[in-house]
Parts: sequence; structure tokens; C-alpha cells
Amino acid sequence: MDFSAQSNISFIKQKIDDLERMTDQDNPYTRIVFSEKFYEARSWLKNEYQKLGLKASTDEAGNLIGILNSKTDTDKIVIIGSHIDTVPSGGRFDGIAGVVAALCVVKYINENNINLPFNLAIYDYLGEELNDWSISCIGTRGLIGALNEDILSRSNSSGNILKDEIDKIGGNSKSLTKPFSMIKNIVACLELHIEQGKVLEQKKIDIGVVRSIPSISRFSVEVNGQAGHSGTILMDQRADALVTSSEIITFVNKLALRLSKESNQHFVSTIGKINVHPNAAAIIPGKVEMTIDLRASSKSSREQYINELEKQIDAMNQSGSCKIEMRNIAFAPYVEMDKELVKLFKISSDECGFSNIIMDSGAGHDTAHLSRVAPASMIFVPCKDGLSHCPEEYAEISDISKGTAVLFKMVEKLASSSQN
Ligand SMILES: [Zn+2]
Repeated sequence: MDFSAQSNISFIKQKIDDLERMTDQDNPYTRIVFSEKFYEARSWLKNEYQKLGLKASTDEAGNLIGILNSKTDTDKIVIIGSHIDTVPSGGRFDGIAGVVAALCVVKYINENNINLPFNLAIYDYLGEELNDWSISCIGTRGLIGALNEDILSRSNSSGNILKDEIDKIGGNSKSLTKPFSMIKNIVACLELHIEQGKVLEQKKIDIGVVRSIPSISRFSVEVNGQAGHSGTILMDQRADALVTSSEIITFVNKLALRLSKESNQHFVSTIGKINVHPNAAAIIPGKVEMTIDLRASSKSSREQYINELEKQIDAMNQSGSCKIEMRNIAFAPYVEMDKELVKLFKISSDECGFSNIIMDSGAGHDTAHLSRVAPASMIFVPCKDGLSHCPEEYAEISDISKGTAVLFKMVEKLASSSQN
């Protein structure tokens, strides 16, 4: 059987083109969870499921599922999932490539009349991207029972409550505080995703088999100084919150650079969000709020980072004119992918004749949540210049098609091992 057939490549291209059109027209490519465009894409996907003969449904967590039932009577299930929501002005491939690849795998199974010894389900996980309710991966958190009342009751900036949105899209927010009972039937959760980094492209490698997904920590930092007239307060009389913040930004960058070299594992930290008050040209900044994002595959490096940063802030509080406060506002632990599935993905890629490496993910993914309750693993395909979460995001259809071939091979391997 030949997966590289032109019909698969054109199928993948066509579906990505279809989804690309479902965007806020003024702001390509924007398809935020629960928005009108998101609903439009969901009904498109439901129709795609039905065209492939899949049974479409929405589960309690709002995930849109298409199931290909095995002809053998079984509860066992293999999931191939990703997401079709985007960040504002995001890309056409992040998440989308994975859902389209899953559709292509099912198309191929249909065309070749393959009967699997398990049910195969495509999942569009609800709201993977970080949203206005300050939560990512709604659908997979729901599946594993990690959405508590506090999260479900959050309102977004328009005053919409998260649980109402989940219910409106077909979920049932009341049943989301415990793991779903179907979890025990999961044989494997698989995902194809663009790498969102430069490793595969630079090394000219077809497939990245993901071995781990880093811990993600976020800290809020508030720096309080004293606002004042920029013309009259002399330089040695100031408590400039922005100047103090700039020292923290530089410190964080240098610290992360050093620890990333020392730990030899994935380690990155970013301050990408900053609010300056009152943010006016002739006023000394009186207050700054920043968010630190930290992603680490090594627990000890993460601890060392927090330790050194806290020490630095203590020292600055002792000697400086501003008051600095740091708070941990979010944490998702480091997870390893299922070792057996990692091995099988590698073998599948080898057998397809594609170059591959085993690597750590830099980004968080739905599969990280699922791996806490079921065997899970994912593969990456290259993307151009490592760009993602921006309109320039791009992946070659031929590269996605290679990844799709590996996904299919993986399903085939799981089928033969569960028949033995
Ligand atoms: Zn994604």
C-alpha cells in the first residue's frame, strides 16, 4: 500500500484550504474557541466525519468525535486527535494538520477495506489554545477530570461563563470533575503536530518522535515604584518600576540561557507580557505587571531557576527603591510519553523510510494531559523557520503527508499487536 499517493496529498491540501477560509476575515488566521468561526469549522468537521462514514458526536467535555467502529465487537479504542481552534492571528497548521491527518488515515482505511480490532476515533479536542478564560486544553482537561468548579465558573472579558459555553457546544459541564469512564478502554492516544520549532528543519529530518513534554510554569511579577513627573524628579530620587523590571527581564534571560546550556535538556523562559502604568511619555512608570513563562524538561533545572530568581528578587527588594512581588499562577507538570508507543512510532517511521529523531517537545499539547491517564505519544513534522502562532506559519503538505503515513503505519502496528 502506498500512502504517498497523490490522492492523499491532494486530500490533505484540500482540507487545510477549506479550514483556512473559516477565519475572521480582517484577522487571518483567527478561529478562537466558541467563536462564530469556530462553530462554522465544527460543523464543517462533523460533515467531514459523516462523509467518511464516521459516527459523529460531542462528548461531555465538548470534544467533537468521529468514530470508525470495528467490525469486531470491542470497547477498545485508539484515538487520533488534535485541535482546530487557533490563537488570534495564528496559523493554518497548528492543530489543524493533526486533525486533517487523522481524516486522511480514516480515508485510507476505508479505501483499503481494513478492519481494525479496535474502534478508531478522531478527536477535535475542545479549545487547546490558551483563551480568554486563561485556560488551555479545555477538552482534554475535561476528559481526565481536571476541570474544577473554580475553572468552570470563570468569566471571560465579555462576561461569558466557561461552563455555559461548554454546555452550549454540546458538552455537559456538570460531569467534568471526574475522569471519563471510557479512559480505561484507550489503547493509545496519538497526535501529529507541526514542530513549532526549528530542529527538524535545520537537521533536515522528516519525523520527530516526541519523548517528553516539558513542565509549564507561569509567574506573575508586580513591580511597584512611584509614578511622578518626568521633568522634575531627579534621577537619584526615582523609584522607576520599568527600570527595575528591565533588570528582572535581563536577569531571567541570562539565567535561562545558562541553565539551558547546563541542563542539556529543553529549558526556555520568556517574559512576553508586560503592562506599564500609567504608560505615558512624561510620567515615571509607577507600576509594572509582567508574566514569566517557563518550560523545562528537567525538574532540578526548574527548581534551580526558581530558587535563583527568588534570591535575586529578595536582593532587589532589600537594596532597591521598588517593591517586587512574584506569584506562581499556573503549573502543568513535565510528562513522558509512553515508552512502548515511542518505540513503535520510531519503528513505524523507519519502516516508512523516513528519517527521524527522538526529541523533547517545547510546547504544551493535549497529549500531555492524556498521557497522565492513558498510553499517549505524538510525532512532529517540520515547519518553516520554526514559525508558529502567527500567519506566516507554514508546513509543506508533502511533510504532513509523510507524518500521516507514519500515523497510519502506527495504527496498523497497534492492530497487529492487539490481535496477537
Ligand atoms: Zn497546537
